[in-house]
Amino acid sequence: MTAHILDGRAMGAEIRAELREEIRRYVQEQGRAPGLIIVLVGSDEASGMYSKAILRVANDIGISARLEQLPAITSSDELRALLLQLNADVNIQGIIVQMPLPHHLSQKMVADTIAASKDIDGISPRSAGNLFLGLPSFLPSTAAAVMEILERIHIQLAGKRVVIIGRSNVVGKPLAMMLLQKNATVTICHSRTANLADFTRQADVLIAAAGRANMLTADMVRPGAVVIDVGINALPEGGIVGDVDFASVREVASALTPTPGGVGPLTNVMLLKQCVQAAWRELGPVLTPDTITYH
Ligand code: NAD
Repeated sequence: MTAHILDGRAMGAEIRAELREEIRRYVQEQGRAPGLIIVLVGSDEASGMYSKAILRVANDIGISARLEQLPAITSSDELRALLLQLNADVNIQGIIVQMPLPHHLSQKMVADTIAASKDIDGISPRSAGNLFLGLPSFLPSTAAAVMEILERIHIQLAGKRVVIIGRSNVVGKPLAMMLLQKNATVTICHSRTANLADFTRQADVLIAAAGRANMLTADMVRPGAVVIDVGINALPEGGIVGDVDFASVREVASALTPTPGGVGPLTNVMLLKQCVQAAWRELGPVLTPDTITYH
């Protein structure tokens, strides 16, 4: 079997076109564009490039997006004051604070301060809590990108065995919650999992998010499994690879995301999608149950 290669760039372009249309409708109804702000503290080069890439796409599809760049010496009180001001700004619906922050600033303070209604990268305890309870919530964008891919290939997740490698707060854990909501049977593996291949070989859907170059080889994959590669690993000799040994796994999987060009291109788009959702949600309370129980 040779896997169908899931093209994240093409999916990203499709979603951008959908968002452009939705934003046009929003502007027509509201007389203004959804507003997004990216806060960048310090001069981390990768964060700067990443911020500019988001801004470019955001403005291109019609979001009114701008960068607030602060010097590395910004104090915790100053950053907190800015976030409170942005929480209260009626022209801003989505707030992103770029990580990593300079060492003297706390990620927890940022997560605790951003208004839950503007937390479009799902970093706050409130967003995480809502996700855990099965309530509508903003989602960490990489985990949301994985779900979007699974949705776009129309995979039926109910009853499927899904194995996730990695338990981080931004990928593995939120993904497990989202997959549970889709009635999948979920296993989370991590750095202390014994006999990893015994788990991965059981998976109908296998998601690799460990940050270990080429660690998932063909012998660890059940023939016909759908494999999603979240990992981005820079090789010492140059070049980027995922966690999945692409050449061997493509011979056994039924579908596979490449790296680069798989999950990565969707991550930014999911942030923007959630910014547009934040703008709509602001217009009226979404009626939700107190909690959702699964039987
Ligand atoms: P992390 O370092 O926070 O977490 C890695 C997880 O993998 C940990 O839970 C650890 O227990 C587990 N792990 C590590 N080695 C393992 C092993 N040998 N066997 C089993 N489990 C193992 O990383 P993260 O932030 O979750 O990111 C994971 C990967 O995804 C990284 O390569 C990162 O660059 C990439 N990433 C990609 C995107 C994207 O847009 N595609 C976004 C975020 C992160």
